Amino acid sequence: MEQLKLAARNARKKTIVPVKQVRIGEGFVVIAGPCSVESEEQMLITARMVKEAGADMLRGGAFKPRTSPYAFQGLGLEGLKILEKAGRETGLPVVTEVVDPRDVTWVCEFADVLQIGTRNMQNFALLKEVGKANKPVLLKRGMYSSLKEWLYSIEYILNAGNPHVILCERGIRTFETYTRNTLDISAVPAMKELTHLPIIVDPSHATGRVSMIESMSLAAVSAGADGLLVEVHFKPEIALSDKDQQLNPRQFKQMMWKLRKLVQFHQQLAKQKSPRGET
Ligand code: PEP
Ligand code: MN
Repeated sequence: MEQLKLAARNARKKTIVPVKQVRIGEGFVVIAGPCSVESEEQMLITARMVKEAGADMLRGGAFKPRTSPYAFQGLGLEGLKILEKAGRETGLPVVTEVVDPRDVTWVCEFADVLQIGTRNMQNFALLKEVGKANKPVLLKRGMYSSLKEWLYSIEYILNAGNPHVILCERGIRTFETYTRNTLDISAVPAMKELTHLPIIVDPSHATGRVSMIESMSLAAVSAGADGLLVEVHFKPEIALSDKDQQLNPRQFKQMMWKLRKLVQFHQQLAKQKSPRGET
């Protein structure tokens, strides 16, 4: 097995990824927005609502890697323009997925962070290309990938020259079918032991169920995650993709209130000395 030269915990001090006014790896960062950019109205209304509820960044897919070729594939360039406009209007930096190495350069003109989705975690041509980009990369864990394989994918990006990588645990395939995937919450402390990079959790794709998003988000805070990537839609019932897992604005607002409380609690806890055990 080859040695990790750049991704390993001891290769560097803790990485903070700057994205405009946001610093990922300091505090708890919430990235929220719809699965797909569907229209200007949908994106702008949702963006204003997540901003008001306290989100730090905006997400929205313009290139959708869908399991079926007949499912909505995203609006492409038009979607990117809408996303950029929503980001500009709300002041929220934007994250969007790139699926083709040939698109990386021009997608950088619209995105503040380039997302690599679970299906492309081992698309090495794409990893090398985003490794050359001057935008941070949000690298999702492959749904069939071990932590070791994830580490080598990170190494590809760092080795190509891009030091700004944010990891995202989004659930893995197991024998369980009740949830869409199985959230591997232990990947959070594990990757903190193994790398110097920030790691966030995506409870939306991990569970596929609105009813479980809040509890898994709170679990992410307690596990020590640096943030969340969560799907929110102004009207999930009419969403063109992933309608069963997108929070509506009221649900998101309620969750944000609890998250803030829990984040504050952990910050207070970190300042306190824990009682010494019996000797
Ligand atoms: C997404 O975040 O839009 C997405 C498609 O997620 P994943 O790659 O984790 O399935
Ligand atoms: Mn989705």
